[in-house]
Amino acid sequence: DRPVVCIVGRPNVGKSTLFNKIVRKRIAITEDNPGVTRDRIYSEAEWLNKYFTLIDTGGLEPEAEEIIPTHIRQQVEIAIESADVILFIVDGMEGVTSTDRDIANMLRKSGKEVLLVCNKIDTKGVSDQIYEFYELGLGSPIAISAEQGLGIGDLLDEVIKHF
Ligand code: GDP
Ligand code: MG
Repeated sequence: DRPVVCIVGRPNVGKSTLFNKIVRKRIAITEDNPGVTRDRIYSEAEWLNKYFTLIDTGGLEPEAEEIIPTHIRQQVEIAIESADVILFIVDGMEGVTSTDRDIANMLRKSGKEVLLVCNKIDTKGVSDQIYEFYELGLGSPIAISAEQGLGIGDLLDEVIKHF
């Protein structure tokens, strides 16, 4: 079986944007398709001839204002059960939130391979924004911009080391 890589994180941090970037196509289905789920949540993916299954655990999440902590908890539990590697996405523009701390606690206890990914670092070079994420206790944050396509190759290099 192919290794499973799960993307977790609170709403709006850029999980779907990263997912689409890694699978190199836009999987999100437009809303004028009634009855069709808005996002497909998994896809096969490849990096340097290593094949894996990528899952966006937030693919079916409701709009941000409807989000309840239970929902996020379930997503993280699914990731912990099924993943070989977990990509925990945080928002470098917003900084650390209490939900980030809750998710980090669950992930640390799981003993799974977790890569802490600091998204929305849209300018190249060292960014001070990433340092506060060390407090989550999950090692060095990997800076990316899912939207600009920055740092994705370095991230995937790290991911496939764990297969
Ligand atoms: P999700 O809820 O975690 O799946 O987040 P989305 O992928 O839907 O992205 C939420 C918002 O953040 C959207 O408006 C994206 O365009 C924006 N976004 C995602 N990645 C980046 C990034 O690297 N930089 C910036 N500036 N915005 C981003
Ligand atoms: Mg999403």
